[in-house]
Amino acid sequence: MRGLPEDPERQTQHQKHRSWVKKATAAFFFVVLVMIGITLAESCFLTPASNRRQKSSHLSPEEEALLRSRCPYMEKIVPQPGFENSTVFLGDEYKKHSVKVWGDMIRIPTQSYDLMGPIDEDPRWQIFAEFEKYLNATFPVFTERAELEHVNTYGLVYILTGSDLSKKPILLTGHQDVVPVPDNTVSRWTHPPFSGHFDGQYMWGRGSADCKNTVSAIFEALESLCSQDFHPKRTVVVALGFDEEASGYVGARNIGKYLENRFGRDSFLMLLDEGGAIVEDVYGVDLALPDTGEKGRVNVVDLETTGGHSSVPPPHTSVGIMSELITTLESSPFPLQLEPSSPFYTQLQCMARFSNSSMPNSLRADIVSLAKDPEAKNRVLELQSRDLYTKYLFSTSQAADIFDGGSKSNALPEQVSAQINYRIDVGSSVKEVQDKVEGIVRQIAHKYGLGVKGFSAYQQGFDPIPKGGFTLSVTDALEPAPVTDVTENPTWALLAGTIRHVFEDDGSVLGSANREIVVSPSLTTANTDTRHYWDLTPNIYRFNPVRMNYFVNIHAVDEHVLVDAHLETVAFYYDFVQNADCFDE
Ligand SMILES: [Zn+2]
Repeated sequence: MRGLPEDPERQTQHQKHRSWVKKATAAFFFVVLVMIGITLAESCFLTPASNRRQKSSHLSPEEEALLRSRCPYMEKIVPQPGFENSTVFLGDEYKKHSVKVWGDMIRIPTQSYDLMGPIDEDPRWQIFAEFEKYLNATFPVFTERAELEHVNTYGLVYILTGSDLSKKPILLTGHQDVVPVPDNTVSRWTHPPFSGHFDGQYMWGRGSADCKNTVSAIFEALESLCSQDFHPKRTVVVALGFDEEASGYVGARNIGKYLENRFGRDSFLMLLDEGGAIVEDVYGVDLALPDTGEKGRVNVVDLETTGGHSSVPPPHTSVGIMSELITTLESSPFPLQLEPSSPFYTQLQCMARFSNSSMPNSLRADIVSLAKDPEAKNRVLELQSRDLYTKYLFSTSQAADIFDGGSKSNALPEQVSAQINYRIDVGSSVKEVQDKVEGIVRQIAHKYGLGVKGFSAYQQGFDPIPKGGFTLSVTDALEPAPVTDVTENPTWALLAGTIRHVFEDDGSVLGSANREIVVSPSLTTANTDTRHYWDLTPNIYRFNPVRMNYFVNIHAVDEHVLVDAHLETVAFYYDFVQNADCFDE
């Protein structure tokens, strides 16, 4: 049935009204879409819904809540579409390329030694010129686009300046040098130490693990991004020292000063250097452990006494007295201590929260009660200290490494020196170590009527000759690093989220399907170049994005790394740089 015709005038008005509503609606949705677009463009993260499983445990709801607050769940962070997916690095075609460029890097024997002469005098430094040439020739797109600054000749700082200078730069660091290969160990290598030999699975050679895998991966990732016309908003700085294995006094120390002069104190969003890795299957959990702290260190002690003929010796010679001092020190180890501010404390909480039933319920309950139950704490520390690698994550270590004294079999030793090396726990300090050592030295000195020249000033009772005494002096003192606080720290979310995405989602042959990675802060007992970068940012992370099981014989004969594991490292830096670029501070 036909209806009545509408009044033409009314019809027009109605149409006009409808058309206005349509336009307004369209405009509204357009604005909404633009706003969504802007939000995405600014934050540019896609965070898929959480699917993390809570492991079974026998904890109460309150205890579960406590663990969740101490070891928060970190969302994955996936780069925005725009560049090739990082899975491209995991294929056979890319592998061939990576084997070539990474192998070439290992073939440059950039050994650094503890005692080296000035840069312009000692020819052993010259190898680093070759290393720079290699970088610029192998990664031409990135190195041409980035500004290169030489610091103290061989320190290399590449700066890829971003379009938005209000965003704090990120700093990616590593070292060009490797520990030397002593001549008498060369024959023990399965493949020559600087051959960069690829056996079909593993890359062999000094530096393959420490740390040319990360240095190569950083450059491989940036080369790939720049080849896809990546122009970052946030400045990316890559800094490479060249004597990290000899404490970084020539390289990183000067680079640190240079970066502070150029960019200022606290001028970087975050710093990522070598450090902890991904440890698989700890109570059923794969733990990614960026180190948010680093122990300090200090060496001490000398003894000087009267000499004489060894046919008429006193009951104890300097050698005997110094030996007694060392055994006394060794029988008085530093206490085990673990405070909530320690990265290892948080690591334990993460293990308790996410481990499977292979963790005994009693241990899980003790970890939850660490802060309030001293007996539970003692049980945890006792258990953890059975493994020496774990023990020194919560105590200061002490090692008498060098003992030197006497020169002739018929003369009493007039001078004996010992180097006792301490790696200082994050809860302690150089001063605390000195006070303890000095207390014990004074006991021994008193027993033998000797003087003591203490750490701080000339002390009473010190009478160099004829009785003699101890001289306490410090070499290579370094306080424990400031601990990066990860609580509600967005840079931690950025790092952890990228780790989870790459190592869970990229479908590597190495990770079991759908196996979750728990990202937890940890502590390094060794030292890195970051000791020279403390003033650049409070957000310092030491992390080697690699699965530890495929990372073999670091610093030793037959150092080698699985190439598939290295490819994951490349994928990590590639996604990390993109995620950091879109990151809202
Ligand atoms: Zn290293």
